[in-house]
Formats: sequence, C-alpha cells, structure tokens
Amino acid sequence: MKQSFAIIGLGRFGASVCTTLVETGQEVLAIDRDEDRVNEYMDIATHAVVANAEDEMALRSLGLRNFDHVIIAIGEDIQASILVTLMAKEMGVKRVTAKAQNLYHAKVLEKVGADHVVHPERDMGERVAHHLISKNILDY
Ligand code: ATP
Repeated sequence: MKQSFAIIGLGRFGASVCTTLVETGQEVLAIDRDEDRVNEYMDIATHAVVANAEDEMALRSLGLRNFDHVIIAIGEDIQASILVTLMAKEMGVKRVTAKAQNLYHAKVLEKVGADHVVHPERDMGERVAHHLISKNILDY
C-alpha cells in the first residue's frame, strides 16, 4: 500500500532514503533549508520544499502531522535534530524515524519520542561485518 513520507534533511542519508522510497512508489515530501539541495531533489521527490524545520509554523503549514512517517535526517546540528523530533511527535506524527550521530544523541531522541533511531555508520558497519563473516563461512 502506498504510504506518505516526509524527509527532513537531504544530506547523503536523507537523499538516499528519499530516492529509494520514490523508486518503490511511495509519496515523499523532501524538506531542507538549503535551496540548492532542494532544487536537486525537485524532480525526484513527489514534492520538495525549502524550509527551516526548526520553525514550527513552517512544519504545521506543510501539514507534517498528516504524513504516515517522518524521517529526521539532520545530522551535525544535534540540537535541531532533537527539537524537530520533539515537535513532530507533539504534532501527532505516528511514526518518526530519527538519525543519531552518537549514543547520547540516540538516547535523547528516544526520550523525546522518536519511534525508531538509526545510526547509519554504525548500522552499516555491523551489516558489513556480518556479511564478511557469512561470506567467510560460505567460502570455507
Ligand atoms: P549526511 O551524513 O547524511 O550527509 P550529515 O550528518 O552531515 O548528513 P547535515 O549535513 O548536518 O547532516 O544535515 C543534513 C541536511 O539537513 C543538510 O542538507 C542540511 O541543510 C539539512 N538541515 C540541517 N538543519 C536543518 C533544518 N533546521 N531545517 C531543514 N534542513 C536542515
């Protein structure tokens, strides 16, 4: 079934999530405060808009609460990532996935209500290690 996603932050992680969701036929609203990034995804995402996600009124006017799933893909600005996660949950978004930079960041994201926290570098490291081990076993 087609679901609606809003992605906040079009860095490497957010952009990759956006492209993959669109390829699988999902509806995706891409949001970034950087106009150049948004222009890059204008023809890829279903909708792409320039907005500062720390601006609650902007998130409300984009109808964030109506999306099935919101992905907070802001990385370096930990304060913004926490604030936007909190606001999305307070607005009533049912499923919020947030990207964490480190374990402390992850803990706070969980505390403010993130339903799912991902650590792309750590998670990918684990997957690669498991893949290497299973490949070794097969090779053996
Ligand atoms: P990645 O590793 O995925 O490339 P990153 O961890 O380096 O990303 P950033 O580059 O800090 O993360 O942020 C990712 C994107 O989020 C950037 O395109 C940035 O413009 C956007 N972004 C950061 N803060 C906000 C904000 N308050 N509102 C909207 N977009 C934001």
